[in-house]
Amino acid sequence: MKNGATMAEAMGISTFRYKMEVFVIAAVLAAISGWLFAFFQRTVNPSPFSIGKGIEYLFMAVLGGVSHVWGAFLGAAVVKLTEDQLQVLLPRLIGTSGNFEGIVFGVVLIVVLKYAPEGLWTFVVRKLPRADRKRDWDTAPALPARDKPARGEPLLQVQAVRKQFGGLTAVNDVSFDIQAGDIVGLIGPNGAGKSTTFNLITGVLALSGGQVLWRGEPITGMASRQIARRGISRTFQHVKMIPEMTVLENVALGGYLRGRSGTFKAMLRLDRQEERGLFAEAERQLARIGMADRMHELAGNLALGPQRLMEIARALCTDPALLLLDEPAAGLRHKEKQALADVLRQLKAEGMSLLLVEHDMEFVMGLTDRIVVMEFGTRLMEGTPAQVQASPQVRAAYLGTEH
Ligand code: ADP
Ligand code: MG
Repeated sequence: MKNGATMAEAMGISTFRYKMEVFVIAAVLAAISGWLFAFFQRTVNPSPFSIGKGIEYLFMAVLGGVSHVWGAFLGAAVVKLTEDQLQVLLPRLIGTSGNFEGIVFGVVLIVVLKYAPEGLWTFVVRKLPRADRKRDWDTAPALPARDKPARGEPLLQVQAVRKQFGGLTAVNDVSFDIQAGDIVGLIGPNGAGKSTTFNLITGVLALSGGQVLWRGEPITGMASRQIARRGISRTFQHVKMIPEMTVLENVALGGYLRGRSGTFKAMLRLDRQEERGLFAEAERQLARIGMADRMHELAGNLALGPQRLMEIARALCTDPALLLLDEPAAGLRHKEKQALADVLRQLKAEGMSLLLVEHDMEFVMGLTDRIVVMEFGTRLMEGTPAQVQASPQVRAAYLGTEH
């Protein structure tokens, strides 16, 4: 939720619901501490709850690090200890008494936000030895899987979808169909509207016109998490992940919709069995794309190519019926590309359907059943790889711009 909601929503997570839950939990904790405070003091007056105190609590959290539990303790300790010191030291330095520590804390806050926006605890974390997550999921129960559509069943029908950004028509009445078991390529020069088409199909952007049908049912206007629930999963052209989590944890996020435990079960640690199942599935998907040996690395430390592969594993973890990949081979080395093509072929053999945006022509030609070519937001043509390759129109529009 902190790094942007698009990825979480694309994995089926209702970020609004979780923000609300976090808010309620925080309110309950505040209420309990207020009750304990009143019980202890035997009187209640407004000054401990003033705006100044509120700012101080916020300062403690930001200074320590808002995304770390121990950051709150560190922040509170640092603020309280330095406040005591400053109250003695400052009047001696300046010569008059007064609340000057507020000024010092103001300066400290600016420095912290500039040089350690994640808080002081991150410096401690970096010094601590990092233990790999204990691998205890060999006997974990398998996650529920969805019934896969039969080969040839119409899956996705994109009907005259349109997207306008102000005066720019990024996608201009584009139509195409995908049947179960197909690998369809979507190609076109930069700025042709391929990623925007992806965002229209997956509900990340609202359509300006047209409609999208999923197995005969309109999904136009649905939120991306509702679309994800129906079995469409995707990767992003600009990788979206949580860099400070491990590869395994990032991939396990994709399994969110296959879990049943909610917040309260998780708080009481009653979801451990299910969590083991999620990690087992995440490891299985990582092994499939050849990254199991890197599962304990921090996602943020990976190069761009492996980050893309990780996103594919995350998308596979949702158990999709249709997989949308936005430039999966970009940034991969030749060997890695071949390995990726093998994985995609194997997915097809298992009955998965794929829509693939890709720049590498060789990669698309060898892999896809059909190709849709876009230029300036419109559909230029659709055909088999051989037809597309032979088309002078496509050559002029697409291959011509490659030089
Ligand atoms: P592609 O993925 O084919 O390279 P995009 O779908 O990213 O192309 O972009 C298509 C066009 O729409 C480009 O001209 C781009 O500048 C524009 N565009 C994409 N997203 C936005 C946005 N959020 N606001 C305004 N213009 C956008
Ligand atoms: Mg793009």
